[in-house]
Amino acid sequence: MSLELKAAELLTMHAAWKLDQGNMTDTDAAMAKLKSTEMLGMVSDEAIQILGGMGLMDELPLERIWRDHRVERIWDGTSEIQRHIISRALLRPLEA
Ligand SMILES: Cc1cc2nc3c(=O)[nH]c(=O)nc-3n(C[C@H](O)[C@H](O)[C@H](O)COP(=O)(O)OP(=O)(O)OC[C@H]3O[C@@H](n4cnc5c(N)ncnc54)[C@H](O)[C@@H]3O)c2cc1C
Repeated sequence: MSLELKAAELLTMHAAWKLDQGNMTDTDAAMAKLKSTEMLGMVSDEAIQILGGMGLMDELPLERIWRDHRVERIWDGTSEIQRHIISRALLRPLEA
């Protein structure tokens, strides 16, 4: 979970750094969005599983985070569209 969080953070920081340099690509943004949103679902689900029933109680924010994460894979470009953007950039130079 820590590794997934770090990977998402680094991809996001990398895209932001390239944006600051003026050379961020669609692929940079797609990779950051795809990884971060899918990581959020995996990590929040895993955290609930570790805590069992307690993970679903109002006392903790986990169930809310898990529920809220779902829309992140849909709006601002679904995960499938992010994959299209990434694969297009890989395949276009090969004329595939
Ligand atoms: C709460 C909420 C708030 C929103 N707010 C805004 C907003 O403020 N402004 C705005 O402009 N939009 C907003 N949207 C719309 C959002 O951007 C769209 O829901 C999103 O782009 C997906 O489009 P769709 O819902 O029409 O799904 P569809 O395009 O019908 O997709 C349905 C499924 O098919 C898949 N799919 C579609 N095309 C392909 C393809 N070519 N290849 C593979 N798979 C494909 C998708 O990945 C998805 O899994 C909001 C949506 C929600 C849920």
